[in-house]
Amino acid sequence: MALMITDACSECDACLSECPTHAITSGRPYRIDPEKCVECVGFYDSPQCVDMCPVKNCIVPDPSHPLA
Ligand code: SF4
Repeated sequence: MALMITDACSECDACLSECPTHAITSGRPYRIDPEKCVECVGFYDSPQCVDMCPVKNCIVPDPSHPLA
């Protein structure tokens, strides 16, 4: 139950402060901790990192951590 950041990331920082569970860390590449990401369920109606990201399809479902 997590999203992942792809190589399309431009390292703009737009997502960092928006994550309610502090699952995102900056660096190369930016990374979402699958143990912390809840896809914003219980916080928002949609994933905030996806909403804030200016790069289309940069943040996608993590196939290693599908929805339960
Ligand atoms: Fe954080 Fe929500 Fe993005 Fe998961 S989907 S990394 S909880 S902002």
